[in-house]
Amino acid sequence: MSEPDIAIIGAGPAGLIAAERLAKAGHSVAIYERMASPARKFLLAGRGGLNLTHSEPLDVLLDRYGEARPWLEPAIRAFPPQALRDWADGLGAESFIGSSGRIFPRAMKASPLLRAWLARLDGLGVTLHAGRLWSGWDENEALRFALRDGGEESARPRAALLALGGASWPRLGSDGSWVELLQQKGIAIAPLRPANAGFSVAWSSLMRERFAGQPLKRIALSFAGQRVLGEAMIDADGIEGGAIYALSGPLREALARDGAAILTIDLRPDLTEPELVSRLAKRRQGETMSNHLRKAAGLSPVAAAVLREATNGPLPAEPNALAELTKAAPLRLTGMASITRAISTAGGIPTEEIDRDFMLKRLPGVFVAGEMLDWEAPTGGYLLQACFATGVAAAEGIGRFLTTRHAQA
Ligand SMILES: Cc1cc2nc3c(=O)[nH]c(=O)nc-3n(C[C@H](O)[C@H](O)[C@H](O)COP(=O)(O)OP(=O)(O)OC[C@H]3O[C@@H](n4cnc5c(N)ncnc54)[C@H](O)[C@@H]3O)c2cc1C
Repeated sequence: MSEPDIAIIGAGPAGLIAAERLAKAGHSVAIYERMASPARKFLLAGRGGLNLTHSEPLDVLLDRYGEARPWLEPAIRAFPPQALRDWADGLGAESFIGSSGRIFPRAMKASPLLRAWLARLDGLGVTLHAGRLWSGWDENEALRFALRDGGEESARPRAALLALGGASWPRLGSDGSWVELLQQKGIAIAPLRPANAGFSVAWSSLMRERFAGQPLKRIALSFAGQRVLGEAMIDADGIEGGAIYALSGPLREALARDGAAILTIDLRPDLTEPELVSRLAKRRQGETMSNHLRKAAGLSPVAAAVLREATNGPLPAEPNALAELTKAAPLRLTGMASITRAISTAGGIPTEEIDRDFMLKRLPGVFVAGEMLDWEAPTGGYLLQACFATGVAAAEGIGRFLTTRHAQA
């Protein structure tokens, strides 16, 4: 096999955008992917509506990355949401801003965008080697790949990009098996943990049987000083959905520390407690509690069931107590869903291990990008935004690295 200038390992969004940038700059680029076809997680992401990025002010968007903001910020400013939209538009996947401010391609799916993208990469001369599992370096420091037929291949590019993703949905290709390979090179890795995942709740059998699969709409969730408006979904083992995911980082840490976490649910965030008290004060004689809650407080049967789970007994009849409970129903979470079912991964390669060009300090010439880096963010387009932006930044870094090396040679 002829040696490419650059080997990109992992054909997810971070790897593919880097390949595009580098091929456009005139480099020869080969992509190596363990699965039989590229970007399986990107395709799955498109199933529920491909949320590419978000339209909120950049400063607000950057805060979504929490502690990782300072080191992700230069990459996101250099490839901000508008650049991502322009890029998608350029591939015929014109995007629009949804009512929540989230940005989607008009087709909602990832497949038309991916098809056009792969055709563009092909036109740029990028070669895609599927069915190659990267398994580290050989004794000559060449990249080693295991083939499906049991054979092996190696490559000795001038620079390499690892864009291997996190460890969620491992059957789509990203399983975090790279962690050990990098640890063997002395690189510290923050443990991979689930992010944007659901939590377990010990529901009563009535709740499980009658309400699993039902949404709690227009609620507010509070935990550790953070309040999030949105939706959640009851499932047989617990609760999941956008508003839960947004709190999944602090909830995960509290569970690891304390073994349980109490989440507070406001089932009518649009009403003040006094407004709710005055509505709940008007209960007709003989009216069942369920009807009263539905008519006076506008609570759906599933919302009323959440109140019952919170008290683990009869609901208070007194309007003040009922309003207080509706505005702050406590829900005890006992565990987090496994990383195999999470939308994304927290942990990974920490900022201390990379330079400003996303090159591993201990492995000159080896760059990293995407979800394998140690950052996390809620759903809302922030995950893909950071994967694309770090892929672009690593490509720029590789370009600079090769130019400097060339000048020195
Ligand atoms: C159900 C679901 C819905 C989602 N929806 C959204 C959304 O709407 N918006 C959003 O912003 N984000 C969404 N995400 C998250 C988003 O898809 C990921 O953050 C993103 O795909 C990560 O990109 P990446 O390139 O870093 O890694 P990945 O997309 O995981 O790609 C990594 C690639 O590397 C390959 N690989 C791994 N190890 C090896 C190896 N040893 N050798 C060779 N190849 C290897 C994998 O097979 C994979 O193809 C969603 C995720 C899920 C699971």
